[in-house]
Amino acid sequence: MSKRVLVTGGAGFLGSHLCDYLLHRGATVFCLDDFSSAGQEHIKPLRRHARFQLLQQDVAAPLELSVEEVYNLACPASPVHYQRDPIGTTRTCVLGALNMLRLAQKQGAKILQASTSEVYGDPKEHPQSERYWGHVNPIGPRSCYTEGKRCAESLFYDYRRQHGVAIRVARLFNCYGPRMQADDGRVISNFIMAALRGEPLLVHGDGQQTRSFCYVDDMVDGLVRCMEAPGAGSAPVNLGNPEEVSMQALAEQVLLLTGSSSRIQSEPALEDDPRQRQPTIKRADEQLNWQPTTSLEQGLAKTISYFSQRY
Ligand code: UDP
Repeated sequence: MSKRVLVTGGAGFLGSHLCDYLLHRGATVFCLDDFSSAGQEHIKPLRRHARFQLLQQDVAAPLELSVEEVYNLACPASPVHYQRDPIGTTRTCVLGALNMLRLAQKQGAKILQASTSEVYGDPKEHPQSERYWGHVNPIGPRSCYTEGKRCAESLFYDYRRQHGVAIRVARLFNCYGPRMQADDGRVISNFIMAALRGEPLLVHGDGQQTRSFCYVDDMVDGLVRCMEAPGAGSAPVNLGNPEEVSMQALAEQVLLLTGSSSRIQSEPALEDDPRQRQPTIKRADEQLNWQPTTSLEQGLAKTISYFSQRY
């Protein structure tokens, strides 16, 4: 029989790719989304699929559903979006996690939390391994997301210890690819859209802050492996591409790949913007036999092609 899988935030950028992949693998997919930060467009084609069902509701609202696996992705992930209603973001992270954990406990289901590199804050250790506890401002503009996701991790491990729930915690580093919204506010979509429109690419601060970007197909593969690998629940696992790049270098690469004549413009630095981020992925390699296979250059080319066809 087809495995029954719930994906919260399933209409979003990453969630819709995950729904596609799970359907392709033969699962029955329940996609829960309240469309607060996603549109309908990515799941529209799936609604005709016999093994796909949409549940239009808030992740924190009561839910009775017979499922074997839960991927908990529901939460705005772009700083611009999650800072728009910070109290709502904390609520989604914490109450959403609690609600889904209760469901998993009742159903005897496995549950995976899409956590984030943001739990490492503005890291003092580089690169970041899962053993690092982070350097986090508890009261800054990013705290709603950072502390919300940290609290969710804490709830996951308490459900494992207290109730024996089969959990997984994956810490996702920056992810990108087709289906990002043009106005998502994150750096890759901003740079590509600006380059295609001939507008300046706005680089915050000195542009020397770094990120490590993982192409969406690699990320989806990592998530599913994390859910399915026996014993992957004992500790969190980083999922990300260790290829680290500064925002200045990223802007230059986008200009090169798009052939745009836009210029790069300096903007004031953002408050609490992490200086550097790069995952160690030894654990994912050992436990999940996972490594990303798409280079930044290949992934950017695919993403640019997606945006240039649409806009
Ligand atoms: N950033 C930038 N220009 C933009 C958007 C973002 O220079 O138009 C910078 C931002 O300050 C940060 C990095 O790019 O240093 C990544 O930002 P993003 O919002 O994509 O993700 P996050 O900060 O959550 O990693």
